[in-house]
Formats: sequence, structure tokens, C-alpha cells
Amino acid sequence: MTVTVATLGFPRIGPRRELKFALEKFWSGKSTEAELLEAAAGLRAAAWARQAALGADWLPSNDFSFYDHVLDTSLMLGAIPERYGVAAGTADLATYFAMARGTTGESAGCAHGHGHTAQEMTKWFDTNYHYMVPELAAGQKLALSSSKIVDEYREAKALGYETRPVLLGPVTWLSLAKGRDVDPFDFLDEVLGLYSAVLTQLAHAGAEWVQIDEPILALDLDERQRAAITRVYAKLPRLGLKIMLATYFGALEDNLTLAVNLPVAGLHVDLVRAPDQFDKVLVAAPKGLLLSLGVIDGRNIWRADLEKLLDRIEPVAATRDIVLAPSCSLLHVPVDLALEPKLDDEIKQWLAFAAQKIDELVTLKDALNGGRDWVAEKLAASGRAAAARKVSPRIHDPLVAARTASITEAMRSRQSPYAARAAVQAGILALPPFPTTTIGSFPQTAEVRHARAEHNRGNLGDAAYERFLREETERTVRWQEEAGLDMLVHGEFERNDMVQYFGEQLAGFAFTVNGWVQSYGSRCVRPPILFGDVSRPKPMTVEWWRYAQGLTARPMKGMLTGPVTILNWSFVRDDQPRSASCAQIALAIRDEVVDLERAGCKAIQIDEAALREGLPLRKRDWQAYLDWAVDCFRLSAAGVGDATQIHTHMCYSEFNDILPAIGAMDTDVISIETARSQMELLEGFAAYRYPSAIGPGVYDIHAPRVPSVDEIVRLMQLAQAHLAPEQLWVNPDCGLKTRKWEEVKPAIDAMVSAARELRVRV
Ligand code: GLN
Ligand code: ZN
Repeated sequence: MTVTVATLGFPRIGPRRELKFALEKFWSGKSTEAELLEAAAGLRAAAWARQAALGADWLPSNDFSFYDHVLDTSLMLGAIPERYGVAAGTADLATYFAMARGTTGESAGCAHGHGHTAQEMTKWFDTNYHYMVPELAAGQKLALSSSKIVDEYREAKALGYETRPVLLGPVTWLSLAKGRDVDPFDFLDEVLGLYSAVLTQLAHAGAEWVQIDEPILALDLDERQRAAITRVYAKLPRLGLKIMLATYFGALEDNLTLAVNLPVAGLHVDLVRAPDQFDKVLVAAPKGLLLSLGVIDGRNIWRADLEKLLDRIEPVAATRDIVLAPSCSLLHVPVDLALEPKLDDEIKQWLAFAAQKIDELVTLKDALNGGRDWVAEKLAASGRAAAARKVSPRIHDPLVAARTASITEAMRSRQSPYAARAAVQAGILALPPFPTTTIGSFPQTAEVRHARAEHNRGNLGDAAYERFLREETERTVRWQEEAGLDMLVHGEFERNDMVQYFGEQLAGFAFTVNGWVQSYGSRCVRPPILFGDVSRPKPMTVEWWRYAQGLTARPMKGMLTGPVTILNWSFVRDDQPRSASCAQIALAIRDEVVDLERAGCKAIQIDEAALREGLPLRKRDWQAYLDWAVDCFRLSAAGVGDATQIHTHMCYSEFNDILPAIGAMDTDVISIETARSQMELLEGFAAYRYPSAIGPGVYDIHAPRVPSVDEIVRLMQLAQAHLAPEQLWVNPDCGLKTRKWEEVKPAIDAMVSAARELRVRV
């Protein structure tokens, strides 16, 4: 039986973020469209060449995107909202970028008088990749508006590569779409017609196969979605192309029977997230269905134990043709481990990035086709790395193990209930009603970023950099005093990123130089690699806090990132449950919280920006996640006495379905994003009888617009319709690091004036 190797998609940003730089050059008017197109073609050619050289048999095309593959699909279908003023069928690159970035180049939701807002952006399933949410309005006309998929197929062919084009499936696309006064599924027939046309074009261009991604099949589906799947895949396979239907990010479970019985030629299943579905899929899959086994982790950076995998796959390969593949597109991992000069050899041998993952798949293929001896050396190396990782003292710290083993419920509980704590804290902090504060960061100006870059390059010495940061901090503290804020922050100028800053100071984390992963558009992140047991060798923020508090008599908040957020924004261990890694991080943060208190800090904010993002894809798994996530937060926070006020911040606007968990975090103050939702969000908190204090964000920091005093007063009055005045704080929606001082100053002035007005009215 034959074994082949496929990649479902390769990172599109390029090994050194070439796409990012090409895009930003074009957007700033420093290059022409022709130059951008040429750069993109070069990246595609390089990606095909690389994958082919590594030995992949099935190369993807149309996995490239200038911004986002969901947006590509929207454009293909001509789902162009009216505000862009372009009829379906006539879209060009300018329309595409307008949909991606708005016509003023601002991100989603930033209406400020002129230009058109971008499409909304949100997280792609449970990844840290963001897609542009498709929009559909009643009566909208769709029409094919992009020939990208056919063009890129032809482009590869001209270069000598026979590819399997990748297309986001219609049912997933409709499921992700937002309808204005219409149910997106009302467009099913129209969308199906357009997909049929595209597939027909591909067949004419000479394609034999197409990969259609329907990750939605790993989620809870309703009847309408299931019916749509049946309908779509009754029709699409009849158009002359063989379809590899790709599912990923989880198990098919209750959708298994549906999926294996569709008249498609192949089915891809994720066996990393869902190893247990292997046997079930084998039993259920008809003989003629080509199975694509996602055996190498497309979501994480660990090297696989190839012999162990072979033991699983060999018996299957003896009975049927199989394709070996990463669990999902390699979009979610960095390109090439060979570009990491700074990672030491011990850690490096445990890792595999996109290129190395394809090499692993090819090794598996060679072993299955030619016998294990054929690749004995590679298998041995993989086995040695796996064995070393199991026992390395770099990973396993007995002190951490002992500490996590002795965590008790008492360690997660504050000394007294909220009401008692609040009374003690009120006596100490003596804050006015409607106290004002900010979320933590102040503008990371070009100057701040430049100083950091120079320091990293070694051009700016430690002492000079430190002096620069102190001056910046002092100026910010002084300004906050002048502005009349009640609880101050130090401004976070010393932090490159709210997770990386802590990861760099904790044992158990490693960092890459070129390990970039696309977050959205041209924006890339380098997630920390959590490889070992976590501990905190020494205090991380206490000195900065002490310095800042020393400048003022007003209370200075300690500022930390919470354990769940650090976990969710990192590549994490696959040799222990996420919850175990999270508990270790929680203990490290707890140490910092206790040290801050000891240094005299009266209020400590532990940000959990990413707590909600970690929710599992299946509703049934939510509670278990929330239980351990909240436990970890409490563990990080509850080491302090009643007098210390614990804050948290969460930057999203969906809380209703997780309110009990938010309540269980037992914070003294929570700040949340609400400005854009007219405080409606607080209804849920009120209905739930949320007991402690809330700072509902009074203005949107994602846009440069400065709010007026009146509008803030009005918003806070709306808030009082739901919550008692003594529960309310006044703060912006989120940190101010992306804004300019010219915007921040008048906005905060307006906020403070509004709070003063509210105090008079009470
Ligand atoms: N303290 C952080 C800041 O102000 C919080 C940011 C966030 O949660 N996204 O930047
Ligand atoms: Zn935020």
C-alpha cells in the first residue's frame, strides 16, 4: 500500500517575515503593487521549492494569503459589504486591503468620522491567529470576485509543481460569517453555486485534487450545519475534482459518521489533538476513502517520537493507502529551526518547526515504504531526543514538583470574603467614589521602542537604558498626578510584551530569534516556548514598582500578567496537562504577588487578557477548563492579606456565559472592555449579582478618537443602571501602549473630569 506526505498549508510570512516587510512597505507607499506582487510570488515559489525539496508529495497552493485566508474566501465569493462601495465581481487588491484594514488603515471597529472601518477580526478557533469575520447583509448579491485560487494553481504549475489547492470550506465560512438582518445560511445555495464554479475552473486548469478545509466538523454542530455539510458534499464531488476534506483542531466525535460517509475522495483527521479517534476513524472509514492522518503536531513546536508513531501507523499502512500530514496547516508554527542560533543544542533537539515537521513526515513515509532500517539513523535520533526530554534536569525540577504537589485549597482562598476585605481596603486606600485608574501601559513611543532595540543590539548600555526607563516612568507618574488620577501605574515602559517580559525572567521558558508566527495580517508574534518546570528565580517587577511608588504618595498598582494568559500565549509542554503547567506559572506569579505586598504595594493587578480565549472548542469541555483556570488565578492571587487589593483586567466583551467563573476568581476589582457595547455587558453582571468592584472601560483605546466628558458621564450613568455606585471604577477599555500621548492626555483628562462630575451628582 502506498504512503505519501502532504502539508495542509505552509507558513506564508516567510522565514524572515519577508511578507510583513513587503506589505508594510506597500501600505506606506514606498513600493508599488507590482513590487508587492513580485515579492509574494517569490515567497510562494520558495515555499513550494522548500516543501518539494524536503520530500512532500502533496504540495498546497492557495495557502498563501496577503492578509487572511478567510478574507480571501470572502473576496472570492464577492461578500463585500456595501460600505466599501465596490460591487461583487469587481474587487481588486485595494478593496481587499480596505476590508482588511479599513480605508484609514485602522483596525476593526474604529469609526472616527472618516474612512471605512475594516471588517471585524476575531480568533481562528482556539488558535492565536485572527481572521476577518465575513459579513453578509439581507439582499446582498454575491459573485466570483477573485481568481486567486486558480491563478496560484497555475503559477505553481508553471514552476513545475503539481499542487493540491486549498480552499476554506463553504460550511465553515458560513458558520464564521455574521449576518446583518439575515441568517448567513440563507446564502447557502448561492455560495454553493460559486464554489461549484471555482471547482469547475480548477478542474479545467488541470487540477486533480482540491483540499477543502472544514474545521467546523470538530465542533458541536446544529441541524442546519449538518444539513449544509450533507448538501454541499453531495454536490462538490461531482465536478471532476477529487476532494480531500480536511478536519482539524479536535475530534470528529458525533460528526464522525457524517464525515466518513460523505462522497468525498479523502478525509483528513487530526490525530494529535484527538489521538483516540484513530481507531474509530479506521473502523468507520469506507475502504475507498483515502485517509490523511494528521500525526505531526501543527499547533506546537515539539519534535515527535517517530518510532512510537510508526508503531501506531504500520498496521494501518499494511492494509490501506494513507497520507501522512501535520494535524493542521503549519501556519501556526515558525518556519525553520535552523534559523535559531541562540537556542542551545539541548533545547533545540526537542523542537521541530515547519520545515523539520515535513522532514519528520518524510522520515515516517520512508520507514513505512522502505522499512525502518532505511532511516534507522533518523529514527534513533528522534528516539534519543524523546528519551532525553523525559529525564532532562532542564525540564524536571524536583522543587517545583514538590511545591505543586503540596498546593492546598486554602492557598487559593483569600483570608476573608469580599465585603470584609473591601472595608479594610477602603480604610487604607481612602479613594474617592468612582476612583479613576488606567489599565497599566502608557504610550510605547517610537523613542521607547528605539531605546529598547538599541539596548538589545548592545548599542545602549544597561545603565543608560535603565536611566532612560526611569525618566520615562517618572514623567508618566508626574503626569498622572497632575491629571488627577487616583490610582497610578508605572507605565510598563520596560516591557516588550506582557507575556514575554515575564517569560524571560522565569525558569522553564525559552525564546526564539526568528520563531515568528502570523497573528493577523502583517502582525507576527514570537510565542515563548514553555519547555520545563516553571519557577521564579528572583523578583521580576518589585524594583520597578518600588521606584514608581517612591515618586508619589498616591497608591501605585503592581502590574503582573496572570498564569492563564501566560500559558495561552505560549507554546506549551505536551508532556503534561496544560493545567499542570498553569499551576506552576501560578505559583511563580504568587511569589511575585507576595513580594510586592511585602514591599508595601497596596493594590496588585493580575491581567488575564487571554482567559476566555482558552475556552475549549466543545462546550462540554468548558467547565473543566474554567475550573482549573480559575483555580490557577486564585492560586496566583490569594497569597496576600485582606488589606491588599487584587485587580484583574480582561480585554473582551463577552462575559455572560462565563460569569460564574469570573465571580469565582474573587477579585476585589475587575476592569473590562465595555465602551463599544454601551455598558450593556453590565446587565449580565447585575443579573448574576456580581459582588465586587468593576471598572467598565469608558472609552475605546483601539482608536485615536478622544472621548468627551459628557459621553463618559453618560456611559457611567448607564453603568449605574446596573451596578451600585460604590461598585464602580472609571478607567479606559485597555492599556494605552498603542496610543500617542497627544491622544492619551486629553482622553484621560476627560475621564478624570467625568469622574469628578459623577462624584458631585451622587
Ligand atoms: N497591563 C496591560 C497593559 O496595560 C494589559 C493589557 C492587556 O490586557 N491586553 O498594557
Ligand atoms: Zn485589555
